Amino acid sequence: MALVNEHFLKLPGNYLFSDIAKKVQTFKRTHSKAEVISLGIGDVTRPLPQAVRDAMHKAVEEMGDVKTFRGYGPEQGYSFLTETIIKHDYATRGISLEPGEVFVSDGAKSDTGNIGDILRQDNCVGVTDPIYPVYIDSNVMSGRAGVLEDNKWSNVIYIPCTEKNHFIPEIPDRRMDILYLCYPNNPTGASITKEALKAWVDYALTNQVLILYDAAYEAYIQDPDIPHSIYEIKDAKKVAIEFRSFSKTAGFTGVRCGYTVIPKDLKGVTVQGETVSLNQLWNRRQCTKFNGTSYITQRGAEAVYSPEGAAQVKEIIHYYMGNAKIMKEGLESAGLKVACGGDNAPYLWLRTPDNVSSWAFFDQMLHGAKVVSTPGVGFGPSGEGYIRLTSFGTRENCIEAMERIHKWLK
Ligand SMILES: *Cc1c(COP(=O)(O)O)cnc(C)c1O
Repeated sequence: MALVNEHFLKLPGNYLFSDIAKKVQTFKRTHSKAEVISLGIGDVTRPLPQAVRDAMHKAVEEMGDVKTFRGYGPEQGYSFLTETIIKHDYATRGISLEPGEVFVSDGAKSDTGNIGDILRQDNCVGVTDPIYPVYIDSNVMSGRAGVLEDNKWSNVIYIPCTEKNHFIPEIPDRRMDILYLCYPNNPTGASITKEALKAWVDYALTNQVLILYDAAYEAYIQDPDIPHSIYEIKDAKKVAIEFRSFSKTAGFTGVRCGYTVIPKDLKGVTVQGETVSLNQLWNRRQCTKFNGTSYITQRGAEAVYSPEGAAQVKEIIHYYMGNAKIMKEGLESAGLKVACGGDNAPYLWLRTPDNVSSWAFFDQMLHGAKVVSTPGVGFGPSGEGYIRLTSFGTRENCIEAMERIHKWLK
């Protein structure tokens, strides 16, 4: 019989969102008339922009004509898309990238989860806490995380983000090999200033740390001083890989497209001390395990950058950030404390009142207001005492949810 990868067995039984779904299901069964509003899971509700749909329709027709049909595309993505990405997302911010430094994929979850393929098992991994669960769980699966003790993995360095440091982690006094950063942050909604991000890049340069920078929410940044890319910081190309996604920006959660930037300057090292290009390793990995994102999807993603597409995406972001504003005001007028988020990110990080636990407050809000949140502790030990709300719902549901919370707490 085949031996299994036993590292998988170390993972706690359920993914956070299945635990939540089960609780909501049970609640619905016992309160059949109750209409539950979900401000929990981070999925979007605005439909695909017209420009994207038009481009995808056109691509479908091309695929149906023998003269324009396309089979396997480049594993790294079509150059019409990588060049558009470089021009609009990077050149405009003074960052120069070569086409070979951008890898188009089916989303940032796969890439942040798979990047560990090119890194040895015995690297020391650091994460900010709370954290997007994919970073840790994927390291558990490859045996890099150690064992779970008191909601912490023994080989993972947790860097707390709390009210005390305004949810911006302090530079640790020890080194690590790999560090995950996510800004604007899921789950806290915190954003990072250029100065603070520079401190992390400098730390990485000094200590030879590889930063895995998840910028899935960069389009939500409103404040002109906040960096959209880690490469806005000098010499970051020597230490950082950046992940981006069209999911939360252009409604691609169900379409699937993202990309990863691995600069050619970025190096890893073998145990013997020989330096190796991470770009080359990732290219080799993708060519073996990935056959590219569909042509139709990539044409849709390209349209995000057209003048019409860009305007339509801006409108989507404006819609969700409008929700965030309504929610922030609503929650605060109901006497709740929004500890972080809602300004440059579609997430609100809420302090539970009277020091109740995350799960207890999750239950109270579900029963009292019929609103689903996400317990902060599900994102790591420093999330205890918080819940996360997302502004990805419809406007009507956001308003209704705030009214219910108000009534419930009165
Ligand atoms: C939603 C999200 C992603 C994007 O995932 P896709 O696979 O591109 O849909 C990546 N990172 C974070 C932190 C997210 O919240």
